[in-house]
Amino acid sequence: MIEELRKIVGDKWVITGEERKLYSFDGFTAVSGEPSVVVLPGNEEEAVEVLRYLFSRKAKVVIRGSGTSLSGATVPLQGEVVVAMTRLNKVYSVEGYEIEVGPGIANAMVTKSAPKDLFYAPDPSSYVVSSIGGNVSHDSGGMRVVKYGPTFNSVLSLKVILTNGEVEEFTPSPFFNPTSIFVGSEGTLGAILRARLKLVPKPKARKTIVGVFQTVGDASRAVVGIFKAGVVPSALEMMDKTSVSIVERSRYKAGLPLAHVLLIELDEDLEESIARVVKVIRDNDGEFFEPEDDAPYWNARKGAFPAMGVVSRAYLTLDCNVPRAKLPLILSKVEEMSRNKGVTIANVFHAGDGNLHPLIPFDPDDKASLRKAIEVGSEITELAISLGGVPSGEHGIGLEKVKFLERYYNATDLEVMERIRKAFDPHGLLNPCKSFLKEKCQPKDEVFRWLWEWD
Ligand SMILES: Cc1cc2nc3c(=O)[nH]c(=O)nc-3n(C[C@H](O)[C@H](O)[C@H](O)COP(=O)(O)OP(=O)(O)OC[C@H]3O[C@@H](n4cnc5c(N)ncnc54)[C@H](O)[C@@H]3O)c2cc1C
Repeated sequence: MIEELRKIVGDKWVITGEERKLYSFDGFTAVSGEPSVVVLPGNEEEAVEVLRYLFSRKAKVVIRGSGTSLSGATVPLQGEVVVAMTRLNKVYSVEGYEIEVGPGIANAMVTKSAPKDLFYAPDPSSYVVSSIGGNVSHDSGGMRVVKYGPTFNSVLSLKVILTNGEVEEFTPSPFFNPTSIFVGSEGTLGAILRARLKLVPKPKARKTIVGVFQTVGDASRAVVGIFKAGVVPSALEMMDKTSVSIVERSRYKAGLPLAHVLLIELDEDLEESIARVVKVIRDNDGEFFEPEDDAPYWNARKGAFPAMGVVSRAYLTLDCNVPRAKLPLILSKVEEMSRNKGVTIANVFHAGDGNLHPLIPFDPDDKASLRKAIEVGSEITELAISLGGVPSGEHGIGLEKVKFLERYYNATDLEVMERIRKAFDPHGLLNPCKSFLKEKCQPKDEVFRWLWEWD
């Protein structure tokens, strides 16, 4: 097999030695696996040839983008072949409000390749490195979801290769649009070869207001109040006091006051919207400032995950969503849990769409501390579901959230999903062990028991 793969992509792009271990994990550092071999096709033709060959051999395959998944969606647990799509990073066309790109292109490069007056709205904080293939497969969000929606709202059509070796173009259709099934499918249905994406006009002006609050309750009530006041911000992020204190000790420091902070970006009806937001902040006992240069504050927000390195070598990133109105309740419960269980929990998240990211540090050399982090994380995610929320807002299920599927979906929902998966991949070749197939994967590591089973 290795010789055949080398013939297609060249020796340099088939990795068999120690270096392949770099592809054994992703942004969810609690677990890792080991690929049998890693292949990096250089263009679409090579990708098609590699995948057709692997599928014809019934080889198990993990498709990978930039490997920033925070749910372990790229981890090869059964010695799968990892096919990394990062070299397929071409811009094929830019026409009107549409751009067609290869799956390996980094998110940031899409706006850079667009006409000056347009931009690509989905903006995960990993936008400098994460790929469009990964963004589509996780239906990634980011700070502008609150106004522009997640990746789903920006995907027009997809070109994919299926496990039967056929290349299909999924284009918009008024009836049974298969593109939508692919968005969020985490590499389990086929490999994306191209994506045609929607661009939107850049706003004429943007304004950032920084809201500063002494309690997390006031800050989260202000989030609810902003929408009640009829304002739809283009971004509304929260960094709680713990996360501010960590960021301010890191290279991302911006001079934020040690408090619970809202970063509110407005991009339309500026005068009226600013007045309404300021009133809401004051009504909720907050203070505010309007920075001349807002870049350091957004940089601090975007750097808040890596800044965790200041307190710990590893951490879990939760991703549950709650209806906005439940933010005050869940945040007070999370504060309580942190106090009662003696676990640091830093909250930095997309408050405008109720998408929480509690960050829970653990010591990667101490399994007991990982177990505790998983237990606390499970409790928070269960609480979110019980409040009408969902287990994942944007990071996906991967290996991390398998057990929550059965809490969130009923048996019929899960069966329908599994049937869709089998229709696309009858031999279970793509990303086995992810999402619904846990019973077929029995990794020895006890971490998977903590992740996959309820006590
Ligand atoms: C610091 C940091 C900040 C982050 N911030 C955000 C955020 O704000 N919002 C957010 O939503 N996410 C965020 N993420 C998570 C992550 O960046 C996203 O999930 C991202 O979309 C993953 O892209 P990737 O290219 O790294 O994909 P990978 O991690 O390589 O893969 C992710 C999934 O996509 C599948 N896949 C990749 N390419 C293809 C393809 N061509 N065809 C089919 N399947 C494919 C893989 O099999 C896997 O299931 C963050 C991550 C980090 C490390």
